[in-house]
Amino acid sequence: MLWSKYFIPTLKEVPVGTEAVSHQLLLRAGLVHMLTSGVYSYLPLGWKVLKKIENIIREEMDGAGAHELLMPAIHPMDLWQQTGRDKTLEEVMIRFKNKKGQLMCLGPTHEEIITDLVKSFVQSYRQLPLTLYQIQTKFRDETRPRFGVVRACEFIMKDAYSFDTSVEGLKKNYDAMYGAYTRIFARCGLKPIIAEADTGAMGGRLSHEFLVPAAIGEDKALDENGVERQCIEVGHIFQLGTKYSEALSAVFLDEHGKQNPIIMGCYGIGVSRLIATIIETHHDEKGIQWPVEVAPFTVALLPLQLNDPEVMALASSYYDELTKSHIDVLMDNREESAGRKFNDADLIGIPYRITIGKRGLTEGNVEIKHRASNAVEVVSRDKAVDRIKALLAVVGK
Ligand code: ATP
Ligand code: MG
Repeated sequence: MLWSKYFIPTLKEVPVGTEAVSHQLLLRAGLVHMLTSGVYSYLPLGWKVLKKIENIIREEMDGAGAHELLMPAIHPMDLWQQTGRDKTLEEVMIRFKNKKGQLMCLGPTHEEIITDLVKSFVQSYRQLPLTLYQIQTKFRDETRPRFGVVRACEFIMKDAYSFDTSVEGLKKNYDAMYGAYTRIFARCGLKPIIAEADTGAMGGRLSHEFLVPAAIGEDKALDENGVERQCIEVGHIFQLGTKYSEALSAVFLDEHGKQNPIIMGCYGIGVSRLIATIIETHHDEKGIQWPVEVAPFTVALLPLQLNDPEVMALASSYYDELTKSHIDVLMDNREESAGRKFNDADLIGIPYRITIGKRGLTEGNVEIKHRASNAVEVVSRDKAVDRIKALLAVVGK
């Protein structure tokens, strides 16, 4: 991608009325735009990060045997009345009447919807176990939308639901999801504290929260040293049992022809909240320091003299070689000062920056900067692409 042709509206100043560093950097790096309190657009760079996170989630969920689907965001209220959650979730539900006068809501979560869906297909123990998931926009009229996309009224969640014939089966699925979550967060560069938690409005038997220590966290958890830390909840998994299947009569026939309620689990990840959480834990005073797997681009290419044929020829050969190797490159070909380009590159936080300057080239060298450590290495012009490939091989990409 060429920066001059792309859409990265960076800001020099810290936007007013922003408390969280992640919120400031999301706005300053041109990743999101606020429409109204708690409601955000994802700009191209933010959208790319979101897609990278989603793909990590997809790989790990599919690997754990879950199947992706997509459910509607518009729900009839009568389904929610059947479980009584029209009352328990009353505060956060966004409701309206359609033209026929039917009471509807925008989905704050999907236990009722998936249970109704599975009920209409599953009759026998032979069709179970089954785990389904979606990555979708959720709507919650939060009392206090805060910290940008950390607590929003419209946000993206991955929600998975497991269906089993026995508690042993549920435990097996729960463990598989627990494992997948551990891998997802590790690949996002996060080290969450995993804490047993309250089952709250969701109901059920057992639940675990995945909590990432961060200054703006609204939850508390003990870290491995027994120190209490402010944390952001990035994921929550529940052994639900039969609360929803009983309320909505989602049953199966067992080997003996006896009818039983399906035993359920549910598993959520705050996908859009993850972007902010990663920034909270990966930044310095200059900007974002993306972990490689979720970075919007892997390499930033900075030719310093746009009118120098040697500089530009080398830049375009790097660009082609990296692109051919499926390495995502952003070339800053804007007519801007070197200082501005360096600052913007640091701000948007691409993991590796290759700087090509006339002066270095007289000795046959270019520079590679590692954004995570801010270390700079001088490499021979012929070795730069190989060096990037070697660095990526180390991080397993
Ligand atoms: P919280 O306690 O933060 O309000 P919750 O317990 O209500 O969250 P769940 O229903 O468990 O959330 O949703 C699953 C995941 O979705 C949460 O772990 C969190 O990462 C994310 N999430 C929940 N509410 C929001 C929100 N308003 N904005 C962004 N992400 C959210
Ligand atoms: Mg929760």
